[in-house]
Formats: sequence, structure tokens, C-alpha cells
Amino acid sequence: MAYDKKLYQAQIAQTNKYNVFRCLVREGPINRAAIARRVDISIPTVMAIVDDFFEKKVIRSVGKGEFGVGKQPEILAINTDQFFYAGVDIGRSTLRVVVNNLAGGEIASMKEPTGDPFPEKEFISHVKKLMLRFIKKLKIELNQVLGAGFAMPGLIEGGTGKVIMAPDFGWKGTPLQDWLQEGIPCPVLVKNSTQALAVNESSALWTDEIHTTLCVNLGYGIGAAIITGENLYEGTGGISGELGHCVVDRDGPLCKCGNTGCLEAVASGEAIARQAQTIIAHHARSKIAELCGGDAAGIDAKMVFEAAEAGDSLALKIVNSAAENIGIGISMAVNILDPDRVLLCGGLMRNGPAFLDRIKASMEEHLAAKTGRSLVLQAGTRDEYSTARGASRVLMNTLWARRTLPI
Ligand SMILES: [Zn+2]
Repeated sequence: MAYDKKLYQAQIAQTNKYNVFRCLVREGPINRAAIARRVDISIPTVMAIVDDFFEKKVIRSVGKGEFGVGKQPEILAINTDQFFYAGVDIGRSTLRVVVNNLAGGEIASMKEPTGDPFPEKEFISHVKKLMLRFIKKLKIELNQVLGAGFAMPGLIEGGTGKVIMAPDFGWKGTPLQDWLQEGIPCPVLVKNSTQALAVNESSALWTDEIHTTLCVNLGYGIGAAIITGENLYEGTGGISGELGHCVVDRDGPLCKCGNTGCLEAVASGEAIARQAQTIIAHHARSKIAELCGGDAAGIDAKMVFEAAEAGDSLALKIVNSAAENIGIGISMAVNILDPDRVLLCGGLMRNGPAFLDRIKASMEEHLAAKTGRSLVLQAGTRDEYSTARGASRVLMNTLWARRTLPI
């Protein structure tokens, strides 16, 4: 490609603007000269960017500096009342929404049941309505919303935000991002739920020593995502991290994706519940039968974990087998990626430390290089809004990268 001087200069200008913005978010309130030093650009460039930010009400003055001699410098801060953005976690049973101000501060969150995912278009329009109603309740005008990031479980096509396949919803080829965008003036972005979760988790548990994180989402389904540095590794088509659909048992049960013996089909929350339902329906003696009141169809993974905690041998067998398989799956991913850290997140991780210990033991047993590998395996934040928060983060990062922010 030929060198395009104008394009190059526009990119530099945008990068400078982004860096000044980040400096104001992370280190503000701050004066112009300090920004120039931190970002390593000239004071006149900072002054031009700051003037532009003032005009667009992105920043405000918070007074004069108190120290030094001569003219006191004006202190600047992000204007937290002017622009907002939203993150939405579309769960199979619950919708969670967070709204952030321009400085990244969260101003509100909410959750509501989502209901039946069919017909798809009606479900999507309901999701949109819930988000818009919440924004209105916060007394935010639509022209103040810079964008909305949506997290959706399943295979999501990079760029288009189309659902290639979402087995838990029974969707295939759904143009989710296009349908969400209809009637919304600000940009809408759809990402895979585990990718959004990983972005938030790795940021919430950030340390300088960690460079590559494998985030594993253990819930109703199973997924994974890879973070290198501060960036999400999406793969060529945006569908990296499908750990749940790696086959761990060729003779295992049929998976919703069409394969047999996928990790998700033998170790997810749904698989744990289904195994217990089948056994209890055949009148097996177990604490699980007591917990479900004899209604085998009503058994969920939580009941199985509760029975295992109480020492029930059947429940322990199911939970230990799930942990063993998850450990095998993770060991394969670690062998390939060699990350510094594996973060275990999702609903299954809310069932006490014993499950994490069992996964760890299985993973260590199956790893290729047991010595010489520095690997941290830890539980995630257990924050139920982590995916929604990740969706809003991914949205902002993407808007800056695309240079489409109207600020
Ligand atoms: Zn599968």
C-alpha cells in the first residue's frame, strides 16, 4: 500500500487525542503542562486538543493549581455529566445493564429477567427497550449516549456482530448487531460474552507481572478468551476461545453444537444438572433427590454442588468428573498458549473453593511441562456485572480504535 501522508497525520492526531483523553481519565484532575509531560507531546499540541475538548464539553475546569510561583495553571478534569455509554449482558435468563460516564465511572446498573428468546426479533427489541428505558430513567438523553456494547453467548462473527450460532438461545445466523442498531442513533457493538468478561476480569485483576491471561467462563455453558497485554485476542474471524466445544470424550453425550463429547456437554452447569436429573429420575438415593423435593426435572447445578458440599457420594462423583474434564480442557489450552495466568470465572465458581482445587489438580496432572512453567490459576472476581462491564469497556476501546467517537 502506498504511503498516505494525510492518513498518517490524521492517525497521529487521533492517537495524541486518545492519549490526552486517557491521561485525563487516569491521572486527572491535571494541568496542561503535566499532560504534555505524561503523554510526551508538545504543549501547543496539548493546548489544541484541550481547546477542542472544552468546545465539545468533554472536559471542565476545576480551578487553579495551588503550588508553584507565577501564574497558577488551570486544572482540568473529565466532564462526567455530559456523555455516557452502556454495557449490556444478554444472559439466557437475565439481562444486566451498566451505564458509565465518560471518565469510566459506573453511574448505575440494573438486572431484569429476559424471557423466551423466540421470536428472535421480538426478544432483541425487548432487550433494546429495557436498556433504553433504564437510560431514560437515569435522565440521560439519547444524544448523550456515545455507544452501547452488548455481550452475547455463542459464536459471534467479528465485525458484523452476527450470531453464527448461540446453542443456549437456539439461534443461528441472527443479525443481532443490525437488529439492535435499528432505531438507535449511537453505535452498537456485539461481542461474545466470554470475551467481554475476560476484558473486564483481566483489567479488574491487573498486575504488572501478568502478560497473558486465559479466562475461562464456567457457567450454564463453557467458553474461554485470551488477553495479551491489555488486548483481547479475537482470532481471524472473532471466534477464538471456543474451549467449550473442544472434544474431551469421543464417547460422550451429544453437544448442542452437533459434535459429541464436547467439554460443555460433559462439564457445564447444564451438563451437571442433566446428569443428576437422569440419575435421580431412576430413583437413585441421594441428597439431590431431597433438595429437589422429588422433582428430578427441577434439579439445577446449584443443588448438585450443595449436595456435594454435604458429602453426598453421587453429587461428589458428578462434580468431580466435571472438574476433571475442565482440568483436561484447560491443560490443552495452556499447552498451546503458555499463559501467565488462568482466571476461572462464571456461575460455577460461586460454589466454594473445593471445585477450584479439583480443577487445579486435574490441570496439573495433564499439563505437558509440569516444571519450569510459571502459571497462576485463580478465581475471577465473582462479580455478576463483570460481563456487562466488559461489554462497555470493549465498546469504548473499539470506538477509539475506529476513530469514530464524536468527541
Ligand atoms: Zn459442542
